[in-house]
Amino acid sequence: MPEPRKSRQIPLELVVLQSLNSRMTLSDQDWKNYFSLAKGFEGEVKFDQLTGKLESECIVINGLLLKIDNHFFQIDTVIIFQKTIYLVDVKNYEGDYEFESKNLKHIKTGKIIKDPYIQLQRCETMFRQLLQELGFHFNVEAYLVYINSELTMYQAPQNPSVIFPTQIVRFMQTLNKIPTKLNSGHEKLADLLISLDLGDYPFTAKPDYDYDRTIKGVLSACCHQFMEADGDTKLRCCKCGLEDSVESAVIRCVEEFKILFPERRVTTNAIYDWCKVVRSKRTIRRILQKNYRVCGKGKYCYYV
Ligand SMILES: [Zn+2]
Repeated sequence: MPEPRKSRQIPLELVVLQSLNSRMTLSDQDWKNYFSLAKGFEGEVKFDQLTGKLESECIVINGLLLKIDNHFFQIDTVIIFQKTIYLVDVKNYEGDYEFESKNLKHIKTGKIIKDPYIQLQRCETMFRQLLQELGFHFNVEAYLVYINSELTMYQAPQNPSVIFPTQIVRFMQTLNKIPTKLNSGHEKLADLLISLDLGDYPFTAKPDYDYDRTIKGVLSACCHQFMEADGDTKLRCCKCGLEDSVESAVIRCVEEFKILFPERRVTTNAIYDWCKVVRSKRTIRRILQKNYRVCGKGKYCYYV
């Protein structure tokens, strides 16, 4: 199967926490949040690799946040076949869990998680309702996929809609065998669903940070570690040594600055202070002028 119709975006909350984690010590709560978002995202990407190998004619849409009657619902993966739409929720839980009614209990820590299957059923109901409102008639099947091979779930009830790690290969084979032929109606539905995507979920909690508490510098794209100057035109990742041009590194750093501090203006001085490792203000100015639109004049100009 070719590329997904909509590729998966890293959640904004994860982008923020990942950047902060490299630049400061996160609060316990933020760290927990970061860990669980990163883990969840990793699981979704793992599942994307499997859907990327599907050979049957289908449309894959990754990561939708939809809304009906003021209720948000999120679907990790939507797969459109000729007659049936598959909704898949992916969980990357790891370790030993015990299934209790409506909850999963982590055996070692005693931590309780709500059974994600209940949440999935809620999504399925809302998705059906949305389809009906849009005037489409499809079968809808929802599946919960536990992707992490290090998961053991004791006392799990038999449920054909819940796919455990040892069942994933078979599940994908089943999807591959679905007889299916798509037409323009399916394309239309896919486009419509993507147009209804609301993008990012509101943050679980606002991370605790401010400009003064963050360590300044340029983070590498490869390892999210600080970079050091290598001459005037290149920067090098302090962890793995991979090089990047100053221009692409500064642009990345500006984008990070804008996400972390939307209330601050992008000026030559601000970015010079934020990047720290680029020695020439003139270089910063040139990169900003080339890649952004200038607003205001002289000393008071900034970039958007
Ligand atoms: Zn690196």
